Amino acid sequence: MTDAAATCCPRCAHTVIEHLFTSPVPGVWDVLQCGRCLYCWRTAEPDRRTRRDAYPDSFKLTVDDIDNAPEVPAVPPLSRPGSRHRRQAPSPTDISKMPRKSPSGGGI
Ligand SMILES: [Zn+2]
Repeated sequence: MTDAAATCCPRCAHTVIEHLFTSPVPGVWDVLQCGRCLYCWRTAEPDRRTRRDAYPDSFKLTVDDIDNAPEVPAVPPLSRPGSRHRRQAPSPTDISKMPRKSPSGGGI
């Protein structure tokens, strides 16, 4: 859409940008991806997500940042049913202690 958005990656300033998708209604937006850092963005997003000059400095990457990035942490195994880390629904006792809305006087 905006030509400046497609000239370089907002995050790392790489100039090889791949076109991934186009909006169902042509010309509304495109999804682009950086060939180096793999950052993806939709051209209809705000400038702070699509333009290098407006991208937050604290999130910008350099080639050194990318080359020296620590290993991506491994994804932990899925929890199994019955795992103690599984979120449980509140017991009926807990539900009875929850505050209730008082009946409103202005019903239909
Ligand atoms: Zn990039």
